[in-house]
Amino acid sequence: MQIEVVTIGDELLLGFTIDTNGAWLARELAQHGITVVRRTSVADQADAIASGVGDALERTGAVITTGGLGPTSDDLTKPSIARLFGREMHIDDAVVESLHRRWKALGRSGDLPRSNLQQALIPDRAIVLPNAHGTAPGIWLDDARGRFVAMLPGVPREMRGLFTEQLLPRMLQRLAGAPTVVRSLTVRTTGIAESVLSDRILAIEGLELEGLDLAYLPGWEGVDLRLTARGLSAEEADARLARVAAVLRAAAGEHVYGTGTDDLAGVVLAALRAAGERIAVAESCTGGLLGARLTAIPGASDVMLGGIIAYHNEVKASALGVCRETLEAHGAVSQETARAMATGVRAALGASVGVAITGIAGPGGGTPDKPVGTVCIAADIEGAVQSFRAILIGDRHEVRQRSAQSALSLVRRMLLGTA
Ligand code: ATP
Repeated sequence: MQIEVVTIGDELLLGFTIDTNGAWLARELAQHGITVVRRTSVADQADAIASGVGDALERTGAVITTGGLGPTSDDLTKPSIARLFGREMHIDDAVVESLHRRWKALGRSGDLPRSNLQQALIPDRAIVLPNAHGTAPGIWLDDARGRFVAMLPGVPREMRGLFTEQLLPRMLQRLAGAPTVVRSLTVRTTGIAESVLSDRILAIEGLELEGLDLAYLPGWEGVDLRLTARGLSAEEADARLARVAAVLRAAAGEHVYGTGTDDLAGVVLAALRAAGERIAVAESCTGGLLGARLTAIPGASDVMLGGIIAYHNEVKASALGVCRETLEAHGAVSQETARAMATGVRAALGASVGVAITGIAGPGGGTPDKPVGTVCIAADIEGAVQSFRAILIGDRHEVRQRSAQSALSLVRRMLLGTA
């Protein structure tokens, strides 16, 4: 099945909202062998919606829209698309009833606002897709030629819930018996440049991608290698993805830390847990980012003890015990200081592992010796200390993100014995 996605909203065209709905839908649909062949964003205007959806319907006969189902006057999706199908609208009693129920369940005072009743206006002969996550139900409208438009709300959380619970099963029913899928598998690497990785992969003797597409996706977390299988049965796609991923993993070696959406912070926490270690962090230029990465992982508290943000040299000395001589002789951004910070935080918080970051995130503060992006990172695991200095690329935001990722990577490699 080929499909088009039309996302509706002035905020998308003005650039205030990034169209994450379109991207999310494309990824989800691909998992089920449904290819999004075009994505369009249109304004909250009846004509724009009608022509955007009408053209898409002409091309593929299958369209998903998001947005414009709300209770306000700029929510014009339903009447515009109803008109395309030559349908009138009616108030749907079941939807009215569910709107009242939800209003009461949320403990709102007074009567349901009249504006909400607009959400109960449904095109004739449409199928209502109940929304367990908000007020606006989704709508499925099809015609005698088997063409359909599925309308989902714009709020991403509601859109995702409705798609998964209501729309996808309906679409899969249509597709029943379809032989092929589009499936991807991502191998996540960090601490290796895209070009070095590419050289390693190209050097594999008799490299056979088995017809899969390979994409290199660099970012501050590292380089993701995304393999995509198209036009295969689910079993064949999975088998080829697993075989080729194993080859890529071998080529990237210790730089591979996971697959899919694995987060290096989660991987490190799991490794620390398995080793019976407890970690504390000392951060200068990242100002708590490393701690935030670790504590974002559910269940971190058995491994993550805490951290000290030692932004000022005074705090590096007073809270972490970094000698003033070290700071004066080598500077705040030095491997010597980073090592002292790692050991200091380990002692201060009674952890078995201390990790520290100190660097120049920019845009100011660089010198010829220590340009912007210079970062020193150290880890102390039960008294064994390792450190390195790197020059990380990007703006302030990216340097800070890359620093936290590099610190996690150092801990991981030390635990593996590959640092
Ligand atoms: P509601 O019933 O809450 O009004 P709706 O279907 O009318 O939902 P919109 O009013 O179009 O949806 O959008 C609601 C919010 O959802 C927007 O303010 C925007 O932040 C977000 N949103 C809308 N479309 C997208 C999109 N394509 N990608 C990401 N976010 C979106």
